[in-house]
Amino acid sequence: MVDKMYISYNNVHKLCKAGAEEFLKQVGKPDVIIAIGGGGFIPARIIRTFLRSPGEKNIPIQAIGLSLYEDMGTGTDDKIGKEVIRTQWLDFGALSQHFDSLIGKNILIVDEVDDTRTTLHYAVSELYKDVKEIAEKLGRTSEKTRFSIFVLHNKLKEKRAQIDEDKMGGGKYFVGKDVPDVWIAYPWESADIDTHTQHAVEQGNI
Ligand code: 5GP
Repeated sequence: MVDKMYISYNNVHKLCKAGAEEFLKQVGKPDVIIAIGGGGFIPARIIRTFLRSPGEKNIPIQAIGLSLYEDMGTGTDDKIGKEVIRTQWLDFGALSQHFDSLIGKNILIVDEVDDTRTTLHYAVSELYKDVKEIAEKLGRTSEKTRFSIFVLHNKLKEKRAQIDEDKMGGGKYFVGKDVPDVWIAYPWESADIDTHTQHAVEQGNI
């Protein structure tokens, strides 16, 4: 097993295409894509290409920022907690220009990798909470909001958190590829894209 997996841009593109096809088949066209920054930005833009039919309007992409940091102070002896903080959140003003709110919508959350699952757990929980709050205020709790997820890679390992299916409202989880628990080097992080791509080709990630 390699200790580092190199991923080429072409590979990212193909994983997004396959993910979009599966998503359209199983869930249907999303109303909005929510990209978790920074790793979710490029996959979100690519997947949008394959979710839209020619002539249709572009699906809006909203960026959210989440940061994971180690909580060294309050964890129990055997466990160092991981906390997530919001560094950027939804722009409800911009969203309302496309449609009245996220209530009752088909939403696709995109990130590059599901590692410990902490980030995805947090994203779904918080988005669900925000939409629920607005729906309660507007008396629209009967409308079901669907949260689906697409990640390029899912690491096969024990996860620190789970995604609450109830909160996904019938939405689904899509993975480009399940991978072992090794570091994944994405092309947008590379300082030398030619060498990076060469490594990716050698590993068959093209
Ligand atoms: P989580 O542990 O919450 O599932 O993942 C947190 C974040 O850590 C991911 O969104 C990603 O930005 C980063 N991360 C985790 N594993 C890897 C990896 O193998 N490669 C890269 N480039 N980032 C990773």
